[in-house]
Amino acid sequence: MKINEHYGELAASYLFSTVAKKQAEFSAAHPEKEIIRLSIGDVTQPLARCVVKAMQEAAAEMGTKEGFHGYGPEQGYDFLKEAVCGYYAARGTRLDKDEIFISDGAKSDLANVLGLFSVENTVLVPDPVYPAYVDDNVTDGRRIVYAKADEANGFLPMPDENVKADIIYLCSPNNPTGAAYTRAQLAEWVAYAKKNDAVILYDAAYECFIQDAALARSIFEVEGARACAIEICSFSKIAGFTGTRCGYTVVPAELKRGGMSLNKLWLRRQTTKFNGVPYIVQRGAAAVFTESGMQEIQENLDYYRRNAAVIAAALDAAGVWYCGGKNSPYLWLRCPGGMKSWEFFDWLLETCGVVGTPGVGFGACGEGYFRLTAFGDAEKTKLAAAKMQKALLQLRETQQ
Ligand code: PLP
Repeated sequence: MKINEHYGELAASYLFSTVAKKQAEFSAAHPEKEIIRLSIGDVTQPLARCVVKAMQEAAAEMGTKEGFHGYGPEQGYDFLKEAVCGYYAARGTRLDKDEIFISDGAKSDLANVLGLFSVENTVLVPDPVYPAYVDDNVTDGRRIVYAKADEANGFLPMPDENVKADIIYLCSPNNPTGAAYTRAQLAEWVAYAKKNDAVILYDAAYECFIQDAALARSIFEVEGARACAIEICSFSKIAGFTGTRCGYTVVPAELKRGGMSLNKLWLRRQTTKFNGVPYIVQRGAAAVFTESGMQEIQENLDYYRRNAAVIAAALDAAGVWYCGGKNSPYLWLRCPGGMKSWEFFDWLLETCGVVGTPGVGFGACGEGYFRLTAFGDAEKTKLAAAKMQKALLQLRETQQ
């Protein structure tokens, strides 16, 4: 018997545990000081009323002989797949319902989809980025190459003809940087993927935050993407489903590799290894796309957007370089005074009682940067922003 030794190659993930430990130590040493967490990547606003109502009704249905649902279609109920098609169609992107696969969230599908590809493929991962992409491939034993994101490329790496990759991860709007690709930029990635016979895994978990017309909400807004991309999406951020669990993955009919249809392979994979998302949850998810659902979730998204604007205004006033925050719940700032990510974490906690996330935790290229999130309470975010603005300005004065 041999275990999967690649698990031994995983870098220990100390990021969030170290953040929590440092926060707890600070609280114990200064019980009188309030701590404000701008570090959370989880949503905080409750589910929309119509989502709750749809789930309550579905639960009641399940308690009746006629309305009971047992095993459902592994790839999701038609009512939800059709609602997802409608959501894309409203933005001018046509999908067939058989191209949509309902899942229990993006994190599972981002890992599971790799099962369609040989471990001999080379994977291209942006740096910094959501850490699961790296770990999912380390445990499979794939070779990983990194696409460097920095201020020069606006934290949006573009294809390099000298780098050969078979699987390409793109995350837009990006976690942690908040940077988002334009359609023109994505067209370059599509051209690269076609030329190299590569497949793009496009993580659109934060698409709902995009407002600028030039930015893509879906890679399928780009011509040719249907032949080279899979899109992974989630109800977590658009509708607060982080604890409810639902997402969807789009595998276009045209996507073929090695003479096989990836849509058919994914259907086979899901029907073999997955038994579907609960009926009650899918009813709740479908309610997101009703007229009242879209209105209610916009109220929550606007709440987070206002938080982002408050933090952005404080950073602007303090003269700190940052990106994100406009089409994303994340703000990515350059640590002032040349501080390293963890150094700035300590400074911010001690000076302002504010907790953020050190950029280096998202990849080597994140060193010297820092992530703040807009998912917190509005009043506390305002307080944190005012404290940060004052402290950052003072720091600037002492350094000049
Ligand atoms: N993709 C990105 C970029 C994320 O930041 C997250 C969660 O924070 C996920 C995927 C996971 O989403 P889900 O809750 O649907 O599993």
